[in-house]
Amino acid sequence: MRPRTAEIHAGERPDPATGASAPNLVMSTTFVVDEPLSFSALDQPEDAPFIYTRWDNPTLAQLEKKLAALEQGEAAAVYGSGMAAASAVLLGTLRPGDRLVIGDTTYAGTAELARDTLAALNVEVVPVDTSDLSAVERAVGPGTSLVWIETPSNPILRLADIAAVADIAHGAGARLAVDSTFATPVATRPITLGADYVIHSLTKYLGGHGDAVGGAVVARRDDIARLRTEATIHYGGVMSPFNAWLIMRGMATLSLRMAAHQSGALIVARWLEEHDAVSKVIYPGLPSHPQHQLARSQMENFSGMVAFQVHEGEHLAAQMMKQLEVIHYAVSLGHHRSLIYWLPTKDLIANSYRLEGEQLEAYRSYAGDGIFRLSVGLEDPEDLVADLESVLG
Ligand SMILES: *Cc1c(COP(=O)(O)O)cnc(C)c1O
Repeated sequence: MRPRTAEIHAGERPDPATGASAPNLVMSTTFVVDEPLSFSALDQPEDAPFIYTRWDNPTLAQLEKKLAALEQGEAAAVYGSGMAAASAVLLGTLRPGDRLVIGDTTYAGTAELARDTLAALNVEVVPVDTSDLSAVERAVGPGTSLVWIETPSNPILRLADIAAVADIAHGAGARLAVDSTFATPVATRPITLGADYVIHSLTKYLGGHGDAVGGAVVARRDDIARLRTEATIHYGGVMSPFNAWLIMRGMATLSLRMAAHQSGALIVARWLEEHDAVSKVIYPGLPSHPQHQLARSQMENFSGMVAFQVHEGEHLAAQMMKQLEVIHYAVSLGHHRSLIYWLPTKDLIANSYRLEGEQLEAYRSYAGDGIFRLSVGLEDPEDLVADLESVLG
């Protein structure tokens, strides 16, 4: 199936009993069995029927098949949030004494989980600038079991070369995990570039409408089978079937939405770049992005995320909260509604990244005192520009 067909049909089929064309929403927590089955998840045949929704559920299984098809992976597991998917991979694969090499600027929740929770479990956590391949090479040595990158990274839209990092990781005997939330499978399919795990916050572009929190991991069948026992069944961060149903409905239009997100973001980013009050615009689709060439070769769509800087960010943020009429001043991203949020450097450094020395300087030179993270939605871009003009002058 080609991507747009797969977004609509993969994993779904008309219900054999009723002929229903839209996927069934199965909210049942438990399933009636007609053969003796073990009470332990550790002791189930490969082809076990549905038993209990924390283990497996028909609606979740449909979403998982669709995700695996779009990412060109063997299998997928869905979770109650993007962070539940991230923690499934990090806690489910790392052991005391292992080394994790991780991007030094990732989604804040992942950064904090690595630096606090994993470090407390005696995982050696090594944050590096994963846009710098020689830095990755220096950090990845014997004992590294996992490399974690996020591309484009939240919030500064820094990219990592997935194929090159995969080579470095595999050369050292490590696996590669890619948080591909900002890219979506429309832009980049990390497994085809050598990644072992792809992680998504389905809350963002894949669901796309800001009404369902969810996460997913796509990987090889045996890796997903291990995660399903360890992370899904034992940690228990399962997704509600209702959310899976909403997210599948959102995914049916993913390619169409991503094309519109990209064209809107280009218009808004170009307008911002021309504006006197804006000192810097970061958008992978602009030639001014420091990794524009990599964006062109690795991304088939530049997505809808734009970062920009102004002279007095905190002041402008306060104005935005009062004056914006179309764009919502709110966290999250990837929805049909445009969203904007101010991310001050001092807070991110103190709470999430804790960078020092050269890494801190590199972040400051990229992000200054802070950046606005703008998720360009599906509204008419002219209305978004007018809204921004009302606060920027
Ligand atoms: C939002 C986000 C997450 C976390 O996802 P939730 O669904 O909010 O738990 C992880 N990674 C990235 C890049 C994100 O943007």
